[in-house]
Amino acid sequence: MRDRFVTAKLLVIDSDTVIKNGAVHIRDGKVACTGLEKNFDLSRVKLQRFDTHILHPGFINVHCHLDLSFLAGAITPGIPFTDWIRELRKRKFSVTPEAMEAGIGNGVRRLLETGTTCVGDVTTSTSAYKALVDAGMRAVIFHEILGADTDPKEKIVALEKRIDACQPTDLVTNGVSPHAVYSTSHELMEAVVHLAISKDMPMTTHLCETKEEEEFARWERGPLRDTLVDFSVYRNGLSRKETPLESVDRSGALSMAPGGLLAVHMNHPNLGDTEKLKLSGAKIAHCPGSNRWFDRAVPPVLSYIKHGVPVALGSDSLASNTDLDMAAEMRELKSAIPELASSELFKMATETGAVALNLPKETGTLRNGAPFDAVAIDIGEKLKPDNPFESIMEKDRAVRCVFINGEKRYGG
Ligand SMILES: [Zn+2]
Repeated sequence: MRDRFVTAKLLVIDSDTVIKNGAVHIRDGKVACTGLEKNFDLSRVKLQRFDTHILHPGFINVHCHLDLSFLAGAITPGIPFTDWIRELRKRKFSVTPEAMEAGIGNGVRRLLETGTTCVGDVTTSTSAYKALVDAGMRAVIFHEILGADTDPKEKIVALEKRIDACQPTDLVTNGVSPHAVYSTSHELMEAVVHLAISKDMPMTTHLCETKEEEEFARWERGPLRDTLVDFSVYRNGLSRKETPLESVDRSGALSMAPGGLLAVHMNHPNLGDTEKLKLSGAKIAHCPGSNRWFDRAVPPVLSYIKHGVPVALGSDSLASNTDLDMAAEMRELKSAIPELASSELFKMATETGAVALNLPKETGTLRNGAPFDAVAIDIGEKLKPDNPFESIMEKDRAVRCVFINGEKRYGG
């Protein structure tokens, strides 16, 4: 049994509870208990003090594509979605494995140095898995798949092979991600749902991201169809002539994905979609920075929250964002929806992220039993005891130390 203690000027337990001059007792990588420092005998214990710091639960980024980090700054922001897809595909096919792996390394470092302790990463390779295991990060690896296949057997065998190559660890587990309704046949999506159920894996998909997606799903026409034709991955009947959510629902993903589907974006819900998401136990990943990058309207986040659909935050990739910093995502959402309190934004970036990724209870907090995934930021004299959440999302905050499962993974 390994016991140690950490103290902090302001100890953020969760979005509701902050302890001034607090202490955490850590045992075997988990929070054993927390309280006022003066209530602990710290004279003969292993102790690290953060006297001018806020200590808060690490951020959980629920939607990222580390594979695409090599594209940082490469594509012009604000271009139409299908132009972006064309650019992405061209560059992805010509990148060397070394450049892609270097990008993944940079991405993982950026996540850590900005206080992200857990990531939901969508990938088509095993490189991100290796980098995340090496960095000691917590992660759910969502293995992505797409295709117009009417017989998905071969694709599923290949997907299982990729999953088997990423053996789960204490910190890194597997999930699946059919890419989107316009790129993934109904047969393939249905097969992925069955695989997710058989292996009890979480599932995520891009959903209701653009008007073009809606046009393709309902009428099988528009710029997405043209793009698929140009890529030679289109076949008649790929669309089921229904809304994107109906299409996903038909595959069983909405009602049967273990722990509830993680629907990424949901920028353009149709009437009744919010209720369907709520009833199915689905969660939403909103990516504020990526939304801004594409110059898109903000989705109805407040309505989702009001109706009881959890909304967590993701950065998306560096191919459609300028950073992988969750505090920047919080600031972006705050500027888009000023009514959201900073404590609520913090909850979306931590505790709700854990819900979105089906992580064990208390993850994303520093409540008793939570894994000690925590971030110390030095605020010096700028202490705002009434609202540390404002300091946590500041651009120039000084991240000094990042712990994951009780181990120091960044800083001193
Ligand atoms: Zn994405």
